[in-house]
Amino acid sequence: MTLSTQWAVAWLRGAADVVAENRALLIDLDRAIGDADHGENLDRGFSAVVAKLDAGPDPATPGEVLKNAAMTLMSTVGGAAGPLYGTAFLRAAKALGDAVEVGPDEAAMMLEAARDGVVARGKAEVGDKTMVDAWTPAVESARTAADAGASAEEVLSAAANAAHAGAVATEPLIARKGRASYLGERSANHRDPGAVSTAMILQAAAVAAGSVNL
Ligand code: ADP
Ligand code: MG
Repeated sequence: MTLSTQWAVAWLRGAADVVAENRALLIDLDRAIGDADHGENLDRGFSAVVAKLDAGPDPATPGEVLKNAAMTLMSTVGGAAGPLYGTAFLRAAKALGDAVEVGPDEAAMMLEAARDGVVARGKAEVGDKTMVDAWTPAVESARTAADAGASAEEVLSAAANAAHAGAVATEPLIARKGRASYLGERSANHRDPGAVSTAMILQAAAVAAGSVNL
């Protein structure tokens, strides 16, 4: 089974739902080590993505869905996360190109391209206590799963699980990038909000793959 345009639409709608449901949590995480706007930023951005989808016309490919989302996120999400997620979705869209269907290998490549975009934009490394700490294990687990013959849905599930573990593992770290780095050692003992939101958004991708029957 491959992932379709409907999957991409379901992913973004699901991401908007999960971000809205966890708006307060993301705000609280960002209050602890940042400026308390991450939940608000992302909720605004993904709501705008859904509004565009509702307004139509229906995009023709998964890549077009992701590219449209990237543009909307870049123009509506402020702070560090807007350009980072915008770049992630734009690179993911480019990796998919004009493909109408996304298989396991393309799913893994898409995530790798997204992560590489985040790194190119933000220059963070694993261990800096940023969303890269969720993206990178996600990419690695997705690649391992794809190479082992997993389905596209399984590739996305592996990525989401690894992203969640990566987000949890940011808790003891001292931030070396972004606003949280201003706190130095006081940034320890809190989960990074962007790593947590990355895990949520990748979970939405996996859930969409399991629920869209095409
Ligand atoms: P801001 O920090 O501008 O208020 P947000 O609160 O929306 O923006 O997003 C903060 C999140 O952005 C952090 O939790 C972190 O995951 C991510 N982030 C910040 N700087 C970087 C960076 N240089 N590279 C990767 N991710 C980063
Ligand atoms: Mg913030």
